Amino acid sequence: MSLLDIATAATTLDIRPIAGTLTDATATPLATPLATPLEDARSQLGAAIGVLGYSSGLHSLLATPRRELTVAVPLRRDDGSTCLFTGYRVQHNLSRGPAKGGLRYSPHVTLDEVRALAMWMTWKCALLDVPYGGAKGGVTIDPRLFSQAELERVTRRYTSEILPIIGPEKDIPAPDMGTDERTMAWIMDTYSVNVGYTVPGIVTGKPISLGGSHGRASATSRGVTHIALAALTHRGIRVHGATAAVQGFGKVGHDAAVFLTDAGVRVVAVSDQYGAVYNARGLDFDRLGAHVAATGRVVGFDGAEPLGGDLLLELDVDLLVPAAVEGVLHAGNAARVTARVIVEGANGPTSPAADAVFAANGQLVVPDILANAGGVIVSYFEWVQGNQAYWWNAAEVEQKLAERMLAAWHQVVDYAAARDLSLRAAATVLAVERVAEAHLLRGLYP
Ligand code: NAD
Repeated sequence: MSLLDIATAATTLDIRPIAGTLTDATATPLATPLATPLEDARSQLGAAIGVLGYSSGLHSLLATPRRELTVAVPLRRDDGSTCLFTGYRVQHNLSRGPAKGGLRYSPHVTLDEVRALAMWMTWKCALLDVPYGGAKGGVTIDPRLFSQAELERVTRRYTSEILPIIGPEKDIPAPDMGTDERTMAWIMDTYSVNVGYTVPGIVTGKPISLGGSHGRASATSRGVTHIALAALTHRGIRVHGATAAVQGFGKVGHDAAVFLTDAGVRVVAVSDQYGAVYNARGLDFDRLGAHVAATGRVVGFDGAEPLGGDLLLELDVDLLVPAAVEGVLHAGNAARVTARVIVEGANGPTSPAADAVFAANGQLVVPDILANAGGVIVSYFEWVQGNQAYWWNAAEVEQKLAERMLAAWHQVVDYAAARDLSLRAAATVLAVERVAEAHLLRGLYP
């Protein structure tokens, strides 16, 4: 179906905006560092809709989550006291398949943040052509402050509360910030006990001994690395000896820094929520990893100098990989960011206002929905392997991951060049068009 057909069909369907749900969806990019992830996500969608020429009704349909659930998650603490968290699960779009998206544990989680992350998952799955819609979940807990037993109880209670809307054919959670394969094992067990039989396909990012996939734990970082190397080469920067800084030293940032180093990139700085460290000769990740395992943070590492956390973003490097949280590159600091290439390991690290500054300065930004899609690709592989009860080896997984990532990279680069768009606009337009096509082919029920 062509763009014009879709635009025409959308007009014919005349899906009108739902009052009050889309007040700022078509707004121009916000020029304030205080823009929220949801405002950023809606602004990016608005720009793509402008290119595609869709009706306001179809725009509204694509901007509005299909289903949202907010739940109370009470916890009986180890000392006998009780506290209460709020949990969310947002299913943004289901037109291309079951909802798919991570579960975040962070005291900063809000419903609007989860809505933004769910929307980005929809575009990511469509762009990489994995047969899922987008979802996200969150619980307002700081996992560092609770014991494993407490986290297990929170996870099981949250899972029970959202049980009616998740399932291997409905909505499949995975790890995100603050959660890991152990969290996924608890979700799988809680779901399975409730339905009465073992259901490995309820989550991805599980331990391998429970049906997880080889290569899932490092998939996002491997994908980020494939894209970063392709982007450096695209910009004419020699990979060997190129310099890089990585913000965030968790599941994505740590392995991305290691894989980049393995590829010959000199990673001179990394950070976590406590601070940053810098070594102009490149960091030794074996020693830094041991330091973090012992202390829980990168600061204090004797093989590097301390660096103010936000200064990492402004280092004179070839490659910057934000791999922590949303909104870190914004109108207030974009002009000081000098990296030639920015590859988004995190979801939503760059505001539309910062995007405009980077475009004006000739810096290449590879958007999250492309750059960090390795995780959902191997989640899809895990789901396929589980459904077939036949598992691939690590080399097969990594080869298929690289093929998919690089095919999407070339598609986005070619489309951006042909239409004179930024990589983010090209990726979003390609993804939104696929989701809109699925909607229009399915039609509106009733
Ligand atoms: P994680 O919880 O494993 O690690 C997060 C890291 O970021 C930690 O090192 C933390 O200390 C650091 N951090 C937090 N706030 C920071 C700040 N203000 N400045 C610097 N560092 C800060 O989480 P993760 O799974 O690595 O996820 C990181 C990002 O990648 C998130 O945006 C997430 O949505 C995105 N992402 C993750 C996956 C995945 O498979 N885990 C896939 C796609 C995208």
